[in-house]
Amino acid sequence: MDDDKQPGQRPSNFLDEAFCHLQVEPQMRRLLKTPYRTIQVELPLQRDDGALAIYEGIRVQHDRSRGPFKGGLRYHPDIDVAHSTELAELMTWKAALMDLPLGGAKGGINCDPRELSATELERLTKLFVESMNDIFGAEHDIPAPDVGTGPREMAWIYDAYARTHGMELGVVTGKPLALCGSRGRLSATGRGVSMVTGWAAHEAGIDVDGARIALQGFGNVGSFTAQFLAEAGARIVAVGDAGGAIRNDDGLDIAMLLSAMHAGDAPRSVVDVGVAGERIDNEELLAADVDILIPAALGHVIHEGNAGAVRARMIVEAANGPLTFDADRQLRERGVVVVPDILANAGGVTVSYLEWVQNREGYMWEEERVNAKLTDVLRNAWNDINDRTSRDGCWYRLAAYCIAIERVSETVTLRGFK
Ligand code: NAD
Repeated sequence: MDDDKQPGQRPSNFLDEAFCHLQVEPQMRRLLKTPYRTIQVELPLQRDDGALAIYEGIRVQHDRSRGPFKGGLRYHPDIDVAHSTELAELMTWKAALMDLPLGGAKGGINCDPRELSATELERLTKLFVESMNDIFGAEHDIPAPDVGTGPREMAWIYDAYARTHGMELGVVTGKPLALCGSRGRLSATGRGVSMVTGWAAHEAGIDVDGARIALQGFGNVGSFTAQFLAEAGARIVAVGDAGGAIRNDDGLDIAMLLSAMHAGDAPRSVVDVGVAGERIDNEELLAADVDILIPAALGHVIHEGNAGAVRARMIVEAANGPLTFDADRQLRERGVVVVPDILANAGGVTVSYLEWVQNREGYMWEEERVNAKLTDVLRNAWNDINDRTSRDGCWYRLAAYCIAIERVSETVTLRGFK
């Protein structure tokens, strides 16, 4: 166990590193690390053609000392308990860093949503909610969108829950506006990524206006990030997704890319929509000669094997966990500034929280009010991190983890153990 590590032994993950820095007691380490519970359910789905397909549904609830469990649902073939646990834990630190009264959870279904029809996905989503029994609830556990899910899936979750529990709007966030979602939620994560990129770039002496940026992932987070940064004058020179990547050193036409990607119902790849650029692969994208690299797709894409090829001066983690611990260390030693996921992509959970607040108030805010509050929350977290890096002489991620761990351990201790 990591909490049994001998003094002097090197930490092997971000959490251990922060535990060592803060000299957290072994029992508190164990308590903060261990998830509250893991729920796994079998999901037999009858396909439209009558065939039976069996999927697994997972929900890992990590910590609820500060408030109800909160975290996304991912529809992806690779989702499993280990990965959900890692992501659930990140949610705990992210919510605490933003100082939101929420805990951390994550989960999903190990399906490839591109292979299922809309009716199959609806049945599977509703079966997932039913099979999870009573774990969800506005005061208990509140799911939200993640990779492979969006407002449509959140509407199905709301409906499945409402059938047995009544109309409890706050049970899920990231809902469509017509079902009392929040204005600004769809773009919130990308908006937050672009704000934090601007602040961190300024600190690193990079002007976003004219900065060269490569971005991996062009889904919800990546596309809005590209839009906001392009509006701020950045030159997005490479973008990639599951279908490949494209590069144009003069800057890709982001407005055209966005409208082409949003046209029609079928999911498309950035390489298929006719935007001027040279086709490259995702490894070339990660190694692009840019000022800022923004991984906004999946986790662990920058690892020990390819970190040496990264040429960016700054990396902004729009995805959850895109850098492994070893890659992070390697890049830091080379002087690359890394803006950690629990800050960079926290715009999503922040506006999810605001959606939950609005649902409880029974009143929908104007988008300006949502965006202003989002800016306040992110700005406060950014200031807290900067104060901490100056005080402790440490880097952004370590500062962010230390702040979050201190907040969660305080609430755990205040609540007591009886
Ligand atoms: P999404 O499903 O909308 O988009 C995912 C994107 O990643 C797509 O463009 C897809 O083609 C691309 N992708 C998938 N596999 C890939 C591969 N092997 N190589 C390159 N690209 C690949 O998902 P999203 O909601 O944009 O989430 C992206 C990341 O941001 C995830 O790590 C997620 O956990 C994180 N995140 C999302 C939110 C949110 O509000 N949606 C909030 C915080 C963090």
